[in-house]
Amino acid sequence: DTLTESFRGAINKIRFHDDEKSLKKALEELKKALLKADVHYKAVKDLLKTVENETKAKGIGKESFLSALRQGLLEILQTSGSQGFVFASKPPTVVLMAGLQGSGKTTTTAKLASFLKTKGKKVLMAACDLQRLAAVEQLKQLSAQIEVDLYHEEESANPVQIAKNALHRANEGLYDVLLVDTAGRLAIDEALMQELKSVKEAIHPHEVFYVADSLSGQDGVRSAERFHQEMALSGVILSKFDGDSKGGVALSIAYQIGIPLRFIGSGEKIPDLDPFLPDRIVNRLMGAGDIESLAEKTSAVISEKEAKNLTKKIKKGEFNFNDFLAQMDNMKKLGSMQSILSMLPGMGSMASALKDVDLDNSREIKQIRAMVASMTPKEREDPSLLNGSRRKRIALGSGMEVADVNRVIKQFDGAAKMAKKFSGKRGMQDLMGLMN
Ligand code: GDP
Ligand code: MG
Repeated sequence: DTLTESFRGAINKIRFHDDEKSLKKALEELKKALLKADVHYKAVKDLLKTVENETKAKGIGKESFLSALRQGLLEILQTSGSQGFVFASKPPTVVLMAGLQGSGKTTTTAKLASFLKTKGKKVLMAACDLQRLAAVEQLKQLSAQIEVDLYHEEESANPVQIAKNALHRANEGLYDVLLVDTAGRLAIDEALMQELKSVKEAIHPHEVFYVADSLSGQDGVRSAERFHQEMALSGVILSKFDGDSKGGVALSIAYQIGIPLRFIGSGEKIPDLDPFLPDRIVNRLMGAGDIESLAEKTSAVISEKEAKNLTKKIKKGEFNFNDFLAQMDNMKKLGSMQSILSMLPGMGSMASALKDVDLDNSREIKQIRAMVASMTPKEREDPSLLNGSRRKRIALGSGMEVADVNRVIKQFDGAAKMAKKFSGKRGMQDLMGLMN
């Protein structure tokens, strides 16, 4: 079970107002959950004390327990320091990416590059992982996918030299940001640390970001600590903070090392990266969702005008198959299904269930695409035209059974109705097409 579920369990242990016994039980449960989630015992102790004192001060009850827990978590996560991305006064802002192998450095480098690109920045990535044969190729593919420049050298086997040359290129090409991807090891070793230090000395980065796997537990926290001692990290990016991740590593890194958490990665796709904002993360951990992040993402993908038009259509009940397909494409730009759902209140557990829904490859969505392809333009705009004989024709054209066509149309109607219901809430309408 996740921290979120355990928190809820703890809160439900409190039965009556001013019931010290039930508070004690709730604190016990909280303690177990936090320790199980690999939160450091000292952090747990501090947190429990805050929760106990605050709850008692406000009068024991579910509400006071909840707000005390929220406050305690916030206190831990609000380490001083920068948030999100900080640009150097004189470009290019140079960022060195460090971390263990498989932590998500290369993916995160591309996510960050794409994040900055949407802010209108000119970004160069540098491929300085020469340990794994496929590493440069991986970054090449990502670079093509997100349309961000990549500096790499086919011949050289010297990451320090490549980093220097990349910096030279970034200066010459008037880039705003240089992101340097580096090699990792399965465990920290001296050679890795020396290589990283040499790269660091060669390019004097403004930021050294450590990419930490949220699932790595106390081991992960210890390596972050080692990297910090050796490299003086300026920020941490938590990767794999997906719907069902434990969140304990976030609390431990903030508490034990005190390096600011700058971003979180919450899925394998490029848009699955968000600035780390403590109160939003606390909301997510508490199962209250993160509507703000979702709204920001949505508005980056869909223009204000487009969103208004859509809302109007939905309200009038005119949402049609063309809109549906357009929304599907927008959804893809938002990131993985799981990451989107985990931002909605109460959707955390659904998110883990839907982990594998792939917008391109799910059977349902393929069927819908095939169906829409077999419709006439009029039918796409007005689903109410779809009578029996038209449905039969569409079934033939798309290689589906009539029953399947009926089912999909029914789902679509349901989705359109849902969308209508939710159309008052900005940012929600875009999701509705898929929630059924
Ligand atoms: P590196 O060895 O540190 O460069 O790690 P990679 O960037 O190659 O990532 C290792 C694996 O983790 C890949 O399969 C990524 O798709 C996956 N990954 C990276 N970030 C995330 C994330 O935020 N969520 C999920 N679910 N997977 C991720
Ligand atoms: Mg890599």
